[in-house]
Amino acid sequence: MLSPDMPILLALLIVSLVTSAFVAVRYFASSGLFAWITQRVRPGLYSGQKAQIGREIRWSLLATLIYGAPAGMLFWSWNHLGWTQLYSGLADYPLWYMPLSVFIYLFAQDTWFYWTHRAMHAPRLFKIMHKVHHDSRPPTAWTAMSFHWLESIVGAALIPAMLLVVPIHFAMLGVVLTIATIMGVTNHMGWEIFPRQVVHSPLGQWVITASHHEKHHEEYRCNFGLYFRFWDRVCGTDRGFSHRIVKEARHESAPA
Ligand SMILES: [Zn+2]
Ligand SMILES: [Zn+2]
Repeated sequence: MLSPDMPILLALLIVSLVTSAFVAVRYFASSGLFAWITQRVRPGLYSGQKAQIGREIRWSLLATLIYGAPAGMLFWSWNHLGWTQLYSGLADYPLWYMPLSVFIYLFAQDTWFYWTHRAMHAPRLFKIMHKVHHDSRPPTAWTAMSFHWLESIVGAALIPAMLLVVPIHFAMLGVVLTIATIMGVTNHMGWEIFPRQVVHSPLGQWVITASHHEKHHEEYRCNFGLYFRFWDRVCGTDRGFSHRIVKEARHESAPA
């Protein structure tokens, strides 16, 4: 795609912009799809939030640049320098390592998110870095990437850093990014898309869906996790589900 004689900085800039464009397409496709579904199943849920959604899209577009740049540069370094631990051969590692690598990536991302997120709730850091995300009251399907650029830098750093040290097959990286995208959008959507049998099952006691993350947006000082309730439970910051969402999903007779 890029000429070998091209100056490295120009090549990195181009590859970063192309990757950012992919991230932006992914954002519009996923948030747009779930916003459309929301309109079908919860008509009027986002009424009166036009200005907020405009703000969310503008911050998200800046975030796509910040998420895309290191990913693109890393892809370039994989292609030209063989730096990353990405692999493509099915026999390069045992097959059982594939699901394990997905779990390692998700758990590491969850751990990174929990602790940096909790730190960003300290009053000074909150004002500077995290208030933008909480300006979405209540959040919508467009809130998934609505972060201040400083928060985006923190969030965008982990997976590229992990790719330098933790082996993962290309397809499994695709699985991680798909889970990240779907959970990022559905957790902010303002209603529960997962069935009662999942949310109120033993799995729902450990995995985060909208019922759990909405509570973070309501009360701020609890439910800091990204995918799993593990750190919230270990650290005593888990306060269960949003009553509004549970009630709306007619889950009220189930335990929190
Ligand atoms: Zn959120
Ligand atoms: Zn927060």
